[in-house]
Amino acid sequence: MTSPVTSPAGERRLLLGSGPSPVPQRVLDALARPTLGHLDPRFGEVMEDVARLLRATFQTANDVTLPLSATGSGGMQMLVDALVVPGDRVVCGVHGAFGARMADALGRAGAEVEVVEAAWGRAIPVERLTAALRPGDRALFVVHGETSTGVCQPLDGLGDAAHEAGALLFVDCVTSLAGQPLDLDAAGVDAAFSGSQKCLNAPPGLAPFTAAPRALERLSRRSWYFDLAAYLGYWRPEGDGARVYHHTAPTNMVVALREALAVVQEEGLEARWARHAVAHEALRRALEVLGLERIAPAGEQLHPLLAVRVPDGVDEAAVRGALLRDHGIEVSGGLGPFAGAAWRVGVMGEGARPEAQERLVGALAGLLGADAPAALRALDEGWRGAEVRS
Ligand SMILES: *Cc1c(COP(=O)(O)O)cnc(C)c1O
Repeated sequence: MTSPVTSPAGERRLLLGSGPSPVPQRVLDALARPTLGHLDPRFGEVMEDVARLLRATFQTANDVTLPLSATGSGGMQMLVDALVVPGDRVVCGVHGAFGARMADALGRAGAEVEVVEAAWGRAIPVERLTAALRPGDRALFVVHGETSTGVCQPLDGLGDAAHEAGALLFVDCVTSLAGQPLDLDAAGVDAAFSGSQKCLNAPPGLAPFTAAPRALERLSRRSWYFDLAAYLGYWRPEGDGARVYHHTAPTNMVVALREALAVVQEEGLEARWARHAVAHEALRRALEVLGLERIAPAGEQLHPLLAVRVPDGVDEAAVRGALLRDHGIEVSGGLGPFAGAAWRVGVMGEGARPEAQERLVGALAGLLGADAPAALRALDEGWRGAEVRS
């Protein structure tokens, strides 16, 4: 019998785009373990591990810390549906595609959205965000790691300013979690979401989520699927209560996420942050030799994502296509004002390693007709310089 499918999945790609990122074999092995039932006490033990490891990764003591059965965008939707109600005023920072998405989602939910913008490719001055807050606001929202531009938004002072206005601080840390220094509790973050497929190196499909007690004082149940109270009946039953079914948790994915979070803890969060910083800088130097300049100014760069301008006269889609077809390497194109004009290179977890970056730099130099040895030397110096310093 001929197969009803047309092409094999599972080709070995080197995933150096905006996500998904390279998944370590031990995480793939965890994913392939026999499926557990979502109410099996054995799976309950996995859930407890995941909650504990997620708290350590988010750097939070929040009891409500769990992976939602959804992609990163589902984390955003939970924030909007559970913690915001129609008529709430929310200050929303927009300096790229993911902030724009949040403004859109808030508007659709009936919130009064006060947008504070900065140019794509720049961080938003903290004073502009805090100046937009008014007493009675429900929340201030920012994207910590803007994956559309490779910019990291400083959070300094945002928590205090939001709390003074009686508002909550909400953060999208989809790309920054486990790749860029971030301590949620120290920053005064009241609720945040992430994704499994960026610096955590699990497959796409889960949204780590956390909320502080003050965010839970007023919980909306107007969404059926993104009903946090229903999630908690399953993830955090009261007292000795049994877990109550809401939807079938994607058990294999949760087991895989546990393994990915264990990898993060084994390396240590601080060591992992430092490795991402070194990997980013080494790659930036190498790509500069190829004539590719970083979009983010120094000091505003997001370590897990290096976005560079594509030089005039280079057909970015053609080069990106050849990278994937001929070299099995995926990088991402630009979004919004950078469509057709930028490449976005992931420096996420296992993608933040010299071997992975050497493959990319060698292949890209060939496609651009540039000096590969010089670029590889710059990469090597970037990594070795860091070793000497540490
Ligand atoms: C990837 C990403 C998202 C969306 O996550 P999905 O898993 O694609 O739904 C949201 N915010 C940021 C900053 C991202 O990088």
